[in-house]
Amino acid sequence: MGPVWRLIRGQKDVCHRCGREIVDFPAVGRVVDFQFRPVEKYCWDCYRYIQPFVDEIASEAQDPYQPVTKPAIP
Ligand SMILES: [Zn+2]
Repeated sequence: MGPVWRLIRGQKDVCHRCGREIVDFPAVGRVVDFQFRPVEKYCWDCYRYIQPFVDEIASEAQDPYQPVTKPAIP
């Protein structure tokens, strides 16, 4: 199974690329035993930057690329 994006909510972490603190963030990883295992986590700026690259990898996979969108600020 190829890499997939998931939106992680309510978890404090650090952006894999720029080191910024993130709370609701996109993560790319793999689904193992029906559980998402994030490999890299990004802030939204880095997500925008890195997205085409990951899309390229994912296109070779059987699973279609699953984009995530930034949640609306209430
Ligand atoms: Zn970042």
